[in-house]
Amino acid sequence: MQPATIHPSTHHGRTAYTFNAQAFANIETSQGFDEAARVARLWVRHYFGFEAGIEHCAIHGEYTGWEFSYVNTGDTYDETIVRRRNGDWVISSWGDEYEALEMKYAEETGQHQCNYCGGWYNEETANYHDHAL
Ligand SMILES: [Zn+2]
Repeated sequence: MQPATIHPSTHHGRTAYTFNAQAFANIETSQGFDEAARVARLWVRHYFGFEAGIEHCAIHGEYTGWEFSYVNTGDTYDETIVRRRNGDWVISSWGDEYEALEMKYAEETGQHQCNYCGGWYNEETANYHDHAL
């Protein structure tokens, strides 16, 4: 059992809160993702003071294992609860998580992301991204 993590909240100047990552993982294991996500939304409502829905974010916009879920607390780098693809529940932002996932995707697949259009390419499809090479 991991200890609860205390974060000094930077979210709109609100006071510190407690986030217990292991508790969310335990709920998901015993009752499924939907229940853990419901509790994550309650957590946000309690500590941040507003209702927020669950969103999913995937590399390529396709759900092929390269995705994560989060409570949508507003802007790209706003603090929120994120459920990573490996099952970890963390405090992060969807922007930070997406950037980290892109880097990992590039490492593991050997693909590169086009700086011009944002598309992914490998050696075979590089000719479609000549504008960036
Ligand atoms: Zn391109």
